[in-house]
Amino acid sequence: MKYTFALVGNPNSGKTTIFNEITGSTQYVGNWPGVTVEKKEGKAKKFKEEIKVVDLPGIYSLSPYSMEEMIARDYIIEEKPDVVINIVEGTNIERNLYLTTQLMELGVPIILALNMMDAVDARGDKIHVEILEKALGVKVVPTSGRKGTGVSELMEKALDLAQNPKKAPSNNRFYIERIEHVISKVEDLIQKNLGGEYNSRWLSIKLLEGDMKVTEKYSLSENFLATIKYYREKMEEKYDNDFETIIADNRYRSISKILGNAYKKNTSTSLTLSDKIDKVVTHRVIAIPLFLFLMFGIFQITFGGFGSFTIDYLDVLLNERLGGLVARGLEVAGGSPLLIALVVYGIIAGVGSILIFVPQIMLLFFFLSILEDSGYMARSAFVMDRFLRKLGLTGKSFIPLLMGFGCSVPAVMAARTLENEKDRKLTIILTPFMSCGARLPIYALFAAAFFSQNQSLVIFSIYLLGIVVAVLSGILLKKTVLKGDAAPFVMELPPYRIPTFKGLMIHMWDRGKGFIKKAGTVIFAASVVIWFFQTFSFSFQMVENPQESILGVLGGVIAPIFSPLGFGDWRSSVALLTGLVAKEIVVTTMGILHGMGEVGENSAELTTALQSVFTPLKAYSFMAFTLLYMPCIAAFGAIKREMNSWKWTLFAVGYQTGIAWLVAFLIFQIGSLLKLG
Ligand code: GDP
Ligand code: MG
Repeated sequence: MKYTFALVGNPNSGKTTIFNEITGSTQYVGNWPGVTVEKKEGKAKKFKEEIKVVDLPGIYSLSPYSMEEMIARDYIIEEKPDVVINIVEGTNIERNLYLTTQLMELGVPIILALNMMDAVDARGDKIHVEILEKALGVKVVPTSGRKGTGVSELMEKALDLAQNPKKAPSNNRFYIERIEHVISKVEDLIQKNLGGEYNSRWLSIKLLEGDMKVTEKYSLSENFLATIKYYREKMEEKYDNDFETIIADNRYRSISKILGNAYKKNTSTSLTLSDKIDKVVTHRVIAIPLFLFLMFGIFQITFGGFGSFTIDYLDVLLNERLGGLVARGLEVAGGSPLLIALVVYGIIAGVGSILIFVPQIMLLFFFLSILEDSGYMARSAFVMDRFLRKLGLTGKSFIPLLMGFGCSVPAVMAARTLENEKDRKLTIILTPFMSCGARLPIYALFAAAFFSQNQSLVIFSIYLLGIVVAVLSGILLKKTVLKGDAAPFVMELPPYRIPTFKGLMIHMWDRGKGFIKKAGTVIFAASVVIWFFQTFSFSFQMVENPQESILGVLGGVIAPIFSPLGFGDWRSSVALLTGLVAKEIVVTTMGILHGMGEVGENSAELTTALQSVFTPLKAYSFMAFTLLYMPCIAAFGAIKREMNSWKWTLFAVGYQTGIAWLVAFLIFQIGSLLKLG
């Protein structure tokens, strides 16, 4: 690669959207901050020159207070991209330029993408690009990532900058005379002590601010440090504020001055539509019921008529038709009965048991994508923050928790965005209680078999159960092993947007594709293994009665643990064990272990088989257990990586499994007392 361009900007400024526009790759485009924790790379497609583009995490400043800020800052300083493309949200220009002032001080070649110009125009605001360019001394290109406008001009100008490197004018005077004076004094000291190869202005400001990371990096003499401290304290005394605040204040003043000339806000409409919607959506009484109502509506559509229809249809198609066809085909081709059994009862039954849920899951993800892309999810995080703070938890956990409804693995990783160690651990422990997509087939199967009248209500209640257990666990752990105050949380509410169909499709596919991939790989393999171990005994003899098989014996050994919960059947125990590989495999296992009938059997038969082992109460207890007990191996690995400690990892999964046992126990025992079945 000849050149590297780095995209830097506030969360939700449209970095990823522009990144996709440039690289042509389909990436996740979300609405809450914190999604872009990892750095994404791509290649600029339409350019002959080799250009690598990096999407850095969204940040508000270059201070060393969060992981994202450190990642972005280190990348710019150490990797030295040829051009820093600073994405500035036009609809939030004042706050966004705050980061710009700091980027400029780094003295790297920078170009501004003034993004969301479509929204600026829609509001009737005016931004004078030339005035802004002149005041800042950097090129400014209006863009709309959403519409794809301005992006090629941006790239042309960026390329021009890369070919004729010109640093941003780092001598821009953002500060009042006295502060500038002190800054240049320290700059002189830096030149003398460290030599000329450093960006002395940036370094000087950081040292004066007392930025620990920068201070640690250079071995500075006692004398030097004392001088800096002297200057800092003198200024702090004079302005009766700490140095960082003085600097921040000065920056904002300069920005205001620049914008005074360059920016005209349309004042004719006092409340935007977005504000009006927010008044309702974040209303302190309406907000939470509205959230629950929306979620319930989605469940109703997903698991109501349409959902069951697709399941029945696919079930017949896969298990009856395909199973029958393959069995006959193999028979004609002279396949051995063992092979036929493996293919039909192992693979088709196992993989098919999962594939039939694909339309439902896609539908659920589709609706969640609407909530997310429209900006509603960010509101719900905001609303939940208020609620969580009352419980002593931080609202910042809500974002990883929300992601947990998709898959625990990225959700656990998203907990990285929490700076506070204890809050982060807590979030990691609680995230798997949010029911991930992989657990859905379990509920769908059991709800259809035992609660055919109230499927969506029952599944909804399981999701709620996860949330309630998470909240209660949060309170408990916060009072005991993870004592501490919740860190404050500031969240920007992005304006509402009408989701684009393309965006929704990408988003839905992004979340759903893993599900299908898993069916073809892990679940395929697991089906073969499970079939094998339930067909053979420990002495590798084929067994008549699967209870004498390897799985049967193992299941029988651990079954007593689950008897008090209502599901002491060996097949359920086996399913819970195999479910640790991937939660869908609980269903796969049930499909294989209960599916020992004739060729062409479908899940109507599985339903009957389940009904002979479970009652509705037992089924509910089982669903609750599968919701709460330790997550799959992949999530376990993520927890281990993020906790970076065996002790905490084992505590997390031990706690989860313990709680699962307790909750299922209570459900079953209390339910039995109340004669619920
Ligand atoms: P990032 O956090 O900076 O990566 O921001 P994203 O690219 O994920 O964008 C955040 C939201 O802003 C998404 O809903 C985008 O669809 C939306 N968005 C991005 N660019 C534009 C734009 O130019 N105009 C409008 N109206 N919306 C945009
Ligand atoms: Mg992004």
